[in-house]
Amino acid sequence: SSAVMWFRRDLRVRDNPALLAALADGSVTALFVVDPAVWSGAGPARRAWLAANVLALAERIPLTVHHGDPADVVPRVAHGRRVHVSAETTPYGRRRDEAVGAQVELVATGSPYAVGPGVVRNGSGDPYQVFTAFARAWRDRGWSEPAPTPRSPDLEAPEPDGRALALLEEAIADAPVALPAAGEDAAWRRWHDFRRDGLDSYATERDRPDHDGTSRLSPYLHLGVLHPRSLLADIDPASTYATELCWRDFYADVLWHHPASAWADLRPALKGMRYDDPEDAVEAWRTGTTGYPIVDAGMRQLLDTGWMHNRVRMITASFLTKDLHVWWPVGARHFLDLLIDGDVASNNHGWQWVAGTGTDASPYFRVFNPVSQGKRFDPQGDYVRRWVPELDHLPGATVHEPWTSHLGYERDYPLRIVDHGDERREALERYRAARTVH
Ligand code: FAD
Repeated sequence: SSAVMWFRRDLRVRDNPALLAALADGSVTALFVVDPAVWSGAGPARRAWLAANVLALAERIPLTVHHGDPADVVPRVAHGRRVHVSAETTPYGRRRDEAVGAQVELVATGSPYAVGPGVVRNGSGDPYQVFTAFARAWRDRGWSEPAPTPRSPDLEAPEPDGRALALLEEAIADAPVALPAAGEDAAWRRWHDFRRDGLDSYATERDRPDHDGTSRLSPYLHLGVLHPRSLLADIDPASTYATELCWRDFYADVLWHHPASAWADLRPALKGMRYDDPEDAVEAWRTGTTGYPIVDAGMRQLLDTGWMHNRVRMITASFLTKDLHVWWPVGARHFLDLLIDGDVASNNHGWQWVAGTGTDASPYFRVFNPVSQGKRFDPQGDYVRRWVPELDHLPGATVHEPWTSHLGYERDYPLRIVDHGDERREALERYRAARTVH
């Protein structure tokens, strides 16, 4: 007998329980479907990253790549056979799998998370609303051991679909950024390097955008080129790094319980909030020309590399929502277009956290000050100088306040588009008004 293994966000051979389940059914057709709904919803950088990792998998195992609506393609390829997958838990993924599952026997084993969404619950069986409680229960519950790597998988040779392969090749050729090395060997190399050189100092280094102190595994984790369970098996579950992986599981859990929170406020606390639509200012934010150096550095890092440091994601998101008074989905959409790790659960709930509409009752009155954040987390100004060449002649932390130097604007760095002090007061005023509406 035989079966189909339909790869989605699990583009790997190692530690892949769904692949093992498929192989237990006999010989397997390995399938990837370029789904137009996903493909057209991702920007060119994310498409290129996906394509590179699908092709890396295809170098490792015989992989049949098709293009089209999975609800048409999967039943056609399955031809009555069972189809194995890792469970997909995003709103779109669930809808798609329902449509496919109505036509074929779809068997889900595992998920892209250490603990799958919906599993961690409190004593009354309800989902957790705040991270710290979730994290405690997540650790107590624990996760399974990594699955063994199949030795000589019995995989059928693929029927080539030239058009689908051409789409992937084109996406890679059109990549607007230099992609990291694709594929699971590259992901594992990255992890081993980080475990050796970065893990011990991670707790203190992770907030420093001027240092290379984080693992940079998010693009791999997003596509399941590497599974978080494999990483957790390698480290102390009480470590800060494990806590960060827990955030990823937590946000997936929140999205599972509240699918609408992908694009709407999770908590109604700010229902009456007044937002602006300042087109020019949003464009300045997008292009990294706001006149606030750390904000501009972050937005340019995003444009140039498809990735941004976590601390700077928070600072730039705060700037859009609180200094420019723009509703968070505008920023979330832009990030999803450009980030190669763009992930609807982590990104959109990260945005909601900053905007004060999300989990953890993040205090609405916390407005990041881009100058003091810059001085604190990029104390010598190296991060700003790396991404903003108009400022690279300024020494040390002066780079965070070009207005204090008589040389600050000699290379045409833009003036500040708003006054942070004024906008902070305005934001607090609006938040206060929105909260008293209820
Ligand atoms: P490390 O510091 O090495 O962390 C290891 C892993 O833990 C990450 O790869 C990631 O999988 C997970 N992780 C760490 N922090 C978080 C977090 N706050 N939330 C969820 N998971 C986390 N992460 C994404 O993967 N995709 C996104 O689209 C995304 N958008 C974000 C948007 C905003 C506004 C904010 C504030 C955060 C966002 N994050 C997102 C979370 C975080 O910024 C990135 O996961 C992190 O910067 C990735 O770099 P790294 O792999 O070096 O992280």
